[in-house]
Amino acid sequence: MRIAKSQYNHGYHLSRDEKDKIPDADTFFIQAIENTGGVPYQLIFGPQIGEGIYLNTGAGVTQLLGIAPGDLTETLYQEMIEEIIPLSDDIPADLINSRRKFVNGEITNYMVNVRVGLPCGAKRWILDTSVPMTDDETGKIIGAIGVLYDDNVRKHILEKLVEARNREEESERLKAAFLHNISHEIRTPLNAIVGFSTLLEEYPDSPEKRREYLDIISRSSDHLLEIIDDIVEISKIEAKTVKISREQVNPDKVLHTVYDQYSFMASEKGVEFNFVAIPGGSDLCIYNDGYKVMQILKNLVSNALKFTSEGRVEFGYTVKKNFIEFHISDTGIGIPAEQQKNIFTRFYQGDSTPNRSYGGTGLGLAISKAYVDLLGGDIWFTSRLGEGSVFRFTLPSGNGVR
Ligand code: ADP
Repeated sequence: MRIAKSQYNHGYHLSRDEKDKIPDADTFFIQAIENTGGVPYQLIFGPQIGEGIYLNTGAGVTQLLGIAPGDLTETLYQEMIEEIIPLSDDIPADLINSRRKFVNGEITNYMVNVRVGLPCGAKRWILDTSVPMTDDETGKIIGAIGVLYDDNVRKHILEKLVEARNREEESERLKAAFLHNISHEIRTPLNAIVGFSTLLEEYPDSPEKRREYLDIISRSSDHLLEIIDDIVEISKIEAKTVKISREQVNPDKVLHTVYDQYSFMASEKGVEFNFVAIPGGSDLCIYNDGYKVMQILKNLVSNALKFTSEGRVEFGYTVKKNFIEFHISDTGIGIPAEQQKNIFTRFYQGDSTPNRSYGGTGLGLAISKAYVDLLGGDIWFTSRLGEGSVFRFTLPSGNGVR
C-alpha cells in the first residue's frame, strides 16, 4: 500500500477499499500471538469446573498438547494436568479454589506453570496465562481468554536473550578497555618520537647518539603505524569492505621476511628464534593475497615473542594435499583454559587491566582470524598454561601450488 505524500502530510486516512483489505482485528491478534509461539484460546466456563468448552484455540495446540484444536475440552486438558505451580501469591494451586477466585474477580491475571502428561507419554511444562472474559450484558465473568506457551521454548528464548545481553555487555566492556589501552598504546611511541626528536637537536655533534635516537624514532613510528593500520583494518573487517588480491606468493620468502623483521627482538629477549624451512620450499608458490598472509604471520610471530621470555619461538609450514599448514610455536606463558574461547574476539586481551605486563590492542588475532577466513583457510591453536602455545593456520594451495 503506498501512502501518497499529500495524504502523509495531512494525516493518513484509509479508503473503504483499503479498509476492506485489512484482516479483522481478531485474526490479526491471533496471528500475532501465534507468531510468538503461543497458543491462544477462549474458555467458556460450564456449570461445573471441567464442563467448559474451548473456542478459537490456536492450531499450535496440536503440537503443544497432541490434541487437535476442535477436540480440546476442559475435561481433557484437566485430565492431562499433573502439577500446577502458581506464578503469583494470590493464585491457589488447586483448580477449584482458583476458579472460584477467578469468577469472583479476585484474580485478574491468572498465570501458572502446568506440568502435563501428553497422550504420547511424554511430560511437558506449559505456561498458562489468562484474563477474565465478561458477559457484555450482565457484566459477569463467564470464561477466560488466554495463551498457552511451551515453557521450554519460552525458557530457551529467555536464555538466548540473556546470552545476547551478556554478549552485548561483554562487547561494551571490551570496547571500554580497548579505548583505555589504545590511548596508552599510542601515547608510548608518540612520546618516544616527540622526546627523541627534541633530543636529536641537543646532540648535533654526536653521530652515535643521533643514530641511536633515529633508530628509536624509526621503530616507534613503525609501531605507531602498525597500531593505526590495525584499527583501520578491524573497521574495514566489520564493515565487510576488505578487498582480497591474488598473486603468486612464495611462503618461504614471506617467512624469511618475517624472520628478518623479528630476529632482533628475539635476540634482545634472549629467545631462540627459528624458521624451519622445508626442502624445495623456495620453489613453492601459492596463489593468494601476499600482504594478508604476511600480516597473519607477523601477528602470530610477534605474539609468540611477546608472550615468551625464555626458551624458543619456532615457525614454518608443511605442504598437505590441498592446502599448506603454517605453524608458530612458543615456550611462553600459555593461555589459560578459561580464556581460550575468547582470544579471537576483537579487543579481547588475556590481561586488559591498567597494570598489565604486556602491551597490545587485542586486535591482532581478530584480524588474523578474519583474514584466514577470507582467504579460505582455518586457524586454531593448542596451549598449556606455563608451557607454551602452538598456533596453526591453513591456506588452500589450489592449483597455484608448484
Ligand atoms: P594483543 O596481543 O594485542 O593483546 P591479540 O589479539 O594478538 O591481542 O591476542 C589476544 C590475547 O590472546 C592476548 O592478549 C593474549 O592473552 C592471548 N595470546 C595470543 N597469542 C598468545 C601466545 N602466543 N601466548 C600466550 N597468549 C597469547
